[in-house]
Formats: sequence, structure tokens, C-alpha cells
Amino acid sequence: MEKSSTSSGGQSGSNPIFKPPYIHQAEISPVFDLPAQRAYLSDKYDLAPSPELAASMDDIYQRMARVVSPVDWAIYAPYVKAINDLKAERNAVILGHNYMTPEIFHGISDFGGDSLQLAIKATEVKEDVIVQCGVHFMAETSKILSPNKTVLIPDMEAGCSLAESITAEGIAEMRKQYPGAPVVTYVNTTAEVKAASDICCTSSNAAQIVAAQDSHTVIMTPDQYLAQNVARDVPQKNVVWWEGSCIVHEQYSASDLRDFREWNPGTRLIAHPECPPDVVAEADFSGSTSGIIKYVTDEKPEKALLITECSMASNIADELPEVDFVGPCNMCPYMKKITLEKVLYSLDTMTGQVEVDADVAEKARLSVQRMIDLSRQLGL
Ligand code: SF4
Repeated sequence: MEKSSTSSGGQSGSNPIFKPPYIHQAEISPVFDLPAQRAYLSDKYDLAPSPELAASMDDIYQRMARVVSPVDWAIYAPYVKAINDLKAERNAVILGHNYMTPEIFHGISDFGGDSLQLAIKATEVKEDVIVQCGVHFMAETSKILSPNKTVLIPDMEAGCSLAESITAEGIAEMRKQYPGAPVVTYVNTTAEVKAASDICCTSSNAAQIVAAQDSHTVIMTPDQYLAQNVARDVPQKNVVWWEGSCIVHEQYSASDLRDFREWNPGTRLIAHPECPPDVVAEADFSGSTSGIIKYVTDEKPEKALLITECSMASNIADELPEVDFVGPCNMCPYMKKITLEKVLYSLDTMTGQVEVDADVAEKARLSVQRMIDLSRQLGL
């Protein structure tokens, strides 16, 4: 199902043929046999909680001490040590998304960032193996951009409601309805969908990518809210969109924000553009995960509510002790499928290798590369 917007950002019309197969992978029973994995790991590694080991790794702990208790750190430390030792043995690098839990983001990740930053980093690293601590479409993007590397995702079921909302057939239907309109696709999609699109975008460059298209009508997929936020910011274009959404960001409402502001005066409200437009309008600032980090780092508000996934605030809390991160947050069940235990198992056994059909990968790479080239051209 898709809806079209007027150039002023309103919306009209819907077509039931576009109803996406909305499968939430997080609800499907696990593919991995967790008890068997645990038995394998405990035979091979000493993973018992160890305050002594935890104390010897205090430099790592200090990056997350504000949000991880010493008791939890004693539980995590043996896994963190085993993974970091194994990385050297396997010539591997770990890329950690901003939504990973702190023990993954700060404990084992060599590089942290948003999905595009991590994909670009994947092309720069020298190691043979990339462990993607994020969701499946991110691992696919790393594989597309670095086809000669082995890319592992520690849980194949780490999906994404946006990526699962659309297929290449959906893109073809949109093209039929809006002949000649370019398709700008958010990076939170499968390789097949990227391959069927003209150019990709991220939440930080979406408005500029849409504005630069040589067409009055521009199709945006799959995030309806990102598209509606872009339609408001780029009124000279007729933005039409697919009706996917992020299950984390769609849960926020403008009235929640108004209530929070009334009850917590002085708190800076900072929203991700995957939130509905009325939520973004109610916030003091809206930006991608990297934009949010930059804003909070530059502004250092006394109190901040990040209207996004819970781990965002946790992962920057120790670097910004002067900021009090307050309020509710929503957890992404897909991101939280990645655990230290699964990373250790995946890296030890080299399971969870991501493969992309060569033809699809080449077409998808072009869509991503066009975005990178245009972003550079626009000075973004
Ligand atoms: S936070 Fe939203 S967009 Fe990101 S992986 Fe989870 S469901 Fe997908």
C-alpha cells in the first residue's frame, strides 16, 4: 500500500495492491539452537563470571561504566576477552551499530556508527572477516561494497520491519504507477530492493538526494515517515511513498512528547526522522543517529530525551557526563538479537556468512555508490 503526497507534504490516495507482506522476523522462532551453542562455547571457553578478569579490563569498562553495573561487567568480561582474542586469530574486525548494547558497542566493536558509516568502513578495513553487529540488511550492504570479504551476522534473524516491508516487486508496482519517476530507497532495505532502485539515501542525506533528482515526482521507499518528513522539507517536489515503517520509531506520538515536555521542563527533545512528522515537529531537533550524536555533543543540553532506540543514549552517556539522558525509549527487537554469546559462536565457527547473488550485488552497489557520489558532489 502506498500513499502520495502533495508538494506541501500532505497525503492523498491509497492503493491496496501495494500492501506489503509485513513479516516481523523477530517473532519467528530462532534458527539457532541456543542450548547447543551454549554447550559448545562452555566446552571451549571459560565463560564463568569473573570480577578479577573484569577488574583487569577496567579500561574497556570505563567506556560504559555509567550504564553497565560492575556485576554485569563481571558477567560480560569473559565473553569480551574471548571475542577480542578471537578477532586477532581470525583476522576479523567488528562493526557495531549505534543501537547495539553497550557491552557490544564499547566492549568488542572496532568501529561504531550508523549503517552508512559502517558500510563505508567495511570498504576501508584491511581484515579478511567482518562481523556485523547490527541487522541483516547492514551485513548485506557490507558484503555488496566488500564482495571479497567474509561478512558474518551473528544472528540471521536480526531483521528490520522497514527492510521486510518491501520487495523488488513493490518497487516495480510503484514504477508502473508513477512512470519515469526515480526511486530513492532508504538504505534500510534488502540488496534486491536496492538493486531495483535508482539511488539509495540515508536519514541524513534523504532530503538533499530527493531535491537533486531531475524529476518533479520522486518515489521514496520504504519508510513512509521519512518520506513525509522529506516532503515537508523539499516542497518543490511531489514525493510519493511506500507505506513501510520502523516499529521502534512509529510508536512515539506527538502527545507523548507534549506531556513529557510539560512534566519535565528544560529537557531537549531530539527525534529521529523515522518518527511520524507530528513527532518530529514537536521535537527541538531531528537528525539521523550520527546527527543526533553531533547535536548532543555540540549543544550539551543539561537534560536530553532521545526519541529513538534505547541504546543510543546508553552508548554516548559516558562520553557526555554533563548530559542527563532522561525519559522513555523503545527497544529494537531485531538489533537486540545480537548478543556477546552469538558473536563469539559466529566468529568461532564462522557461521552466519552473508552471501548476495553477484548480479543483484552489482546493481545494488550501483544504487549505493550513486548515493555516495551524489553526497560528495553536494558536499554532504
Ligand atoms: S530500529 Fe527500526 S529501522 Fe532500525 S533495525 Fe530496528 S526496526 Fe529496522
